[in-house]
Amino acid sequence: MIATQTETDTAVIDGMDVSAYRIPTDLPEADGTLDWNSTTLVVVELSARGTRGLGFGYADTATARLISDKLAEIVQGSDPLAIRSTVQRISQSVRNLGRPGIAAMALSIVDIALWDLKARLLEISLVDLLGAARHSVPIYGSGGFTSYSDEQLQRQFGGWVEDGIPRVKMKIGRDPAVDRRRVTLARRTIGDAELFVDANGGYSHKQALSQATAFAESGVSWFEEPVSSDDLEGLRLLRDRAPAPIDIAAGEYGYDPFYFRRMLDAQAVDVLQADATRCGGVTGFLNVAAQCEARPIPLSAHTAPSVHAHLGCACPEVRHVEYFHDHVRIERMLFDGCLVPSNGELAPDRGRPGLGLEFKQSDAARWEVGLHGT
Ligand SMILES: [Mg+2]
Repeated sequence: MIATQTETDTAVIDGMDVSAYRIPTDLPEADGTLDWNSTTLVVVELSARGTRGLGFGYADTATARLISDKLAEIVQGSDPLAIRSTVQRISQSVRNLGRPGIAAMALSIVDIALWDLKARLLEISLVDLLGAARHSVPIYGSGGFTSYSDEQLQRQFGGWVEDGIPRVKMKIGRDPAVDRRRVTLARRTIGDAELFVDANGGYSHKQALSQATAFAESGVSWFEEPVSSDDLEGLRLLRDRAPAPIDIAAGEYGYDPFYFRRMLDAQAVDVLQADATRCGGVTGFLNVAAQCEARPIPLSAHTAPSVHAHLGCACPEVRHVEYFHDHVRIERMLFDGCLVPSNGELAPDRGRPGLGLEFKQSDAARWEVGLHGT
C-alpha cells in the first residue's frame, strides 16, 4: 500500500551510513590509458522512519570521506521527499572544493540514495517514481580489456553473445597495429553482433582517423573517445570524417550540466554518454537526458548497470546501458536483487521498491576500507 502524504510529510532522514570497499578484479585490467587491479565501491545508506535507502558508485575512498565529513550533516534531518532542496544545498556546500570529480561523485551517490529512499517510502520502484517509458532497456557487454589474452577476450565476448547480448565493447588505444588485430579477432568471435571500441583517449587525431577506416572494415559501429574527451575539436573532426556507420561517443567524465552542454554545442559526438554515479545521480542524469531530447541526440548510460537499468527505462533518449564486466561482477556478488539480462535487455523488477537492491554488507566486509585513520 502506498504511504499517505501525511505519513511521509513528517518523515526526516535520521540515519546515514557511509562505507567503502576495495574489491580486487578477477584478472588484471587495462584500457588505452590506465591499468587497475581493484575497484572501489562507495555505499551510502540513509534511513527515515525505519525505511532504508541505498546509493552507491565506483569512486575513490576520498569520495566516501567527503560524504561522511561534509555532506552527512546536510542530509541528516532533511525531508526525504524534497530531494532537489537537499541536492541544491549539497551543490552549494562543495562550491569551494570544485564540483567536478570527487565532490560530484559524492553528490551523485547521495542523490541516488535519496531517490531510492523516496521510492521506498512511497513503496514503488524507482522506475515507477520517475515514470516508465518502457519495461526494459537494451544493454551492451563491456570489457575486452587491453590486458586480456586473445583467449580471455574470445571467452568473454563469446559468452555474452551466447547469453543473448547482441552488442559488445572492447578496449583499444595502446598500440594501433595490435588494436587492429584484436578487433579482427573480436569480429571473428562474435559473428554478426555489433562491435564497439573504446580508446579512452589513447590515439592522436591522425591515428584515430586511420583506425576508424580500418575498424569500419571489421563492422565496428561505435568508436568511443577516439581522442581525449576534453578535445572537443578532435572529437568533432572524427565525427565529421570517420566512415558513416561509426558513431563517435564520449561523455563519461561529465560531472555537471555545463559539461554536457559544451560537448553538445561543439557537435562533438553522435551519441552522448553519461554516468549517474558521476553526473549528479538520478537528478543529474535526468538533466542530461533532457539536453539530449532537445538536440535531439541519443544517450548511452556508462557502467553501474543496476542503477542505469531504471534510468534507461525512464528516459526514452537512452539507447543502451553499459553492462560493464567489473561492475556486473561486483553487483552480482554484493547486491541481492541484481538484475539478470534477458534477450540483451535489463528489466527492473517493478514489484520491488526503489532500485530493488539490498546491500550484502557481511559479504562485502572483508574488502572494507577504513575511512578515517590509517
Ligand atoms: Mg569509456
